[in-house]
Amino acid sequence: MDYVSQVLSDIRAKNPNEPEFLQTATEVLNSLRPIVERHPEYQKAKLLERLTEPERIITFRVPWIDDKGEYQINRGFRVQFNSAIGPYKGGLRFHPTVNQSVMKFLGFEQIFKNSLTGLPIGGGKGGSDFDPKGKSDDEVMRFCQSFMTELYRHIGPDCDVPAGDIGVGGREIGYLYGQYKRITGQYCGVLTGKGLSYGGSLARTQATGYGVVYLANEVLSHKGKSFQGQKVIVSGSGNVAIYAAEKATELGAVVIAMCDSNGYIVDNNGVDVATIKEIKEVRRGRIREYVETHPQAEYHEGWQGIWTIPCDIALPCATQNEIDLDAAKSLLKNGCWMVTEGSNMPSTLEAMDAFAEAGILFVPSKAANAGGVAVSALEMSQNSLRLSWTFEEVDSRLKDIMSNIYKNMSAAAQEYGKTPEDYVLGANVAAFIKVADAMMAQG
Ligand code: GLU
Repeated sequence: MDYVSQVLSDIRAKNPNEPEFLQTATEVLNSLRPIVERHPEYQKAKLLERLTEPERIITFRVPWIDDKGEYQINRGFRVQFNSAIGPYKGGLRFHPTVNQSVMKFLGFEQIFKNSLTGLPIGGGKGGSDFDPKGKSDDEVMRFCQSFMTELYRHIGPDCDVPAGDIGVGGREIGYLYGQYKRITGQYCGVLTGKGLSYGGSLARTQATGYGVVYLANEVLSHKGKSFQGQKVIVSGSGNVAIYAAEKATELGAVVIAMCDSNGYIVDNNGVDVATIKEIKEVRRGRIREYVETHPQAEYHEGWQGIWTIPCDIALPCATQNEIDLDAAKSLLKNGCWMVTEGSNMPSTLEAMDAFAEAGILFVPSKAANAGGVAVSALEMSQNSLRLSWTFEEVDSRLKDIMSNIYKNMSAAAQEYGKTPEDYVLGANVAAFIKVADAMMAQG
């Protein structure tokens, strides 16, 4: 058994109930084989064993009182996975599916994603099984305050800087930040995704979705293609999906479908993103409400059906494992020739194999959605400088970062991959080189 297979077998035995973590570890480690073979010193230093074991996992109780006066208890997490290249950085996810496996998968992905940005940030992730859906603002505020009452002692602007993820947007970051400040008396860059009036960065809201499209556009332009006139499916209708759809539309694509956890809409005229924004960000409503003002569009129950619509480009921007083998087959059968992943790990391993076998353009999430955390790092820089950059300045830095990610992942794919367009391997290897160097240097 080679070194990579040995480590994979050990971590499967050690973490039997962590399917999401094992999925990402399998994907990443398998693609590191060519580089690990060139560096026997990594095996001697047990580098892959170290890389797959979080530096620290904090699990804590989050008690809060709901609007009926009843006590509620949730579980909070912060996984501080790897600090080799900088302070832990990564979002907080509030969703009922959150558990240690999901936290470790997201934290592990974050190490590589953050390395790809070229900025000095390590990998971390946190969250809770709390479900903000259906909760009042007051309930969300009390929950966030209780969550931070424990989390504050583990984070700091130079050691661990959380941000948002699914279920954690501007409202939640505001409540979390207020509580951090109340407890510590520190006005600082301990969280990113803050409101513009208290230290947030322009373009942070748009950054993940815009970055997805900037990277897809780089890949397309190197193939002599563009978004112009392409039929695009964007799954989801949260922050990533909304701004990916907005930028794709700006570049001439026709976004024909979007969804939420109940169902999907199809609008062959091109989804009106401003309406989706209004429904989701202002009303906190359901996507089915779109057809009330856009009668030419259709609404279908069950979001999985979104992958049966013929399209050119798919931008999965909802959640992990949203594209399984059946969905992948259906996309391929209906003519899809590019997938760029906006959510973290949206494709199962079987779906990724099907895309690779079909030879379509496939851009993995840790490269494609790195724009969000990259602009978070720019927010940290602005906070340290006590300055605010203009939207244009941040957006232009984001474009440069995505373009560098393209260069690095394609260079690594060319040097180590079986094909020059093996961006999965390219992204993993390019990200790993920097983390491995830093870990080896630090002993
Ligand atoms: N949650 C986002 C991600 O998955 C952003 C994290 C951050 O800005 O720290 O990368």
